Amino acid sequence: MIASYPDQAVAVLFSGGDAPGMNAFLRAIVRLGLNREKIAVLGIRDGYRGLVRTARAVNGDTEAMVRLKQDIATHTGRAGLISEQLHIIQMDHASVSGIMGKGGTILGSARCLEFHDKEVRAKVLRLLKGLNVRALVVVGGDGSLTGARLLAEESDLKIIGIPATIDNDLQFTDMALGVDTAVNTLVWAVDHFIDTARSHRRVMVLETMGRASGDLARMAGLASGAEMIITPEKGPLKAADMERLAAKIEGAMTRGRGHAIVLVAEGVEFDPPQKRNRAYVLMDAFQQYFQRAGAPFQDLEVRPSVLGHLQRGGHTTPQDCILAARFADCAWKAIGDTSSGSGITALRKNIVEIVPYGTPDMPERAEFSHEMEQLHDDLSSW
Ligand code: ADP
Repeated sequence: MIASYPDQAVAVLFSGGDAPGMNAFLRAIVRLGLNREKIAVLGIRDGYRGLVRTARAVNGDTEAMVRLKQDIATHTGRAGLISEQLHIIQMDHASVSGIMGKGGTILGSARCLEFHDKEVRAKVLRLLKGLNVRALVVVGGDGSLTGARLLAEESDLKIIGIPATIDNDLQFTDMALGVDTAVNTLVWAVDHFIDTARSHRRVMVLETMGRASGDLARMAGLASGAEMIITPEKGPLKAADMERLAAKIEGAMTRGRGHAIVLVAEGVEFDPPQKRNRAYVLMDAFQQYFQRAGAPFQDLEVRPSVLGHLQRGGHTTPQDCILAARFADCAWKAIGDTSSGSGITALRKNIVEIVPYGTPDMPERAEFSHEMEQLHDDLSSW
């Protein structure tokens, strides 16, 4: 029997930097599609790149499109996932089983420079139309959601964006998928570094992700009790600023403090600019200050660590799994609502809702950042 291709489908892709919660979202969007909406869900492999490659292979050829549909219909679920050639997989229950808490994304994520080209996006839109796709769900960070906005502007296809980035730099939502897990991982990391910092009376400078935002470092600082948080929002650090920070640590040591954990966000800049990682620049500046003539703790050691991609992986927290389910639910409601157009799911004051592309930053987010910093200072024992 020849397998039949669905009359209508919703496609989902994961793009840009991966974030924990992407798999939980995939499971939720597929299961809600199959159980509640009775609509097929097509998983796109490797983000926009999977669509671009498939569009190029089909290249407007009717027969190639028929063959592609046949391939998708005969390789559903896990059979599609293990097929190297197929970039579009019709998902079933079994294909999303056991993935909820796994970091990363089983469909793969990628960066795709060609997607900046309008002609390329037009080809992708023609492909989606040919595949009976009535809505595309794009899961990713700022760049991926910009690509989604352009698709929405350039077609009448419904394009639903889902914020997913550990950086928490999308200011229209209180939280993006992955943030809670990354904070959890950072707290775990600080706990490990504290052991050695205490034993050796050291200052540990740990560099976090977050792009231009300091929120990830702030949240991790508040949750872990790290002694100092250095974030980009106050502007570039000058030599005098670093001396002031070092003096603060030295002052705490004078009052009996034995160690310090310093979190520095990757978005922090220096004046004059520096090429090296922030943790290393700060290490040198602090060490130089501690070793100045007549200083009280000349043997105080500073050790840097750039935590990097460690922060992106690991088991997804329950909070992220719950947010993933809520975003998927909201996405399906938006897809089913014929009176509304494209948009992005957002968590605002504990309500998940669809907001239009280009929604301005929530002032509450900046207030929350400020409050976190203040609270961290007030909780300090220095
Ligand atoms: P993230 O989504 O994590 O912020 P990127 O900024 O790398 O990651 O963006 C991921 C992908 O989204 C890019 O590789 C590209 O395919 C697409 N994209 C980003 N910005 C644009 C843009 N201005 N126009 C079209 N596509 C874009």
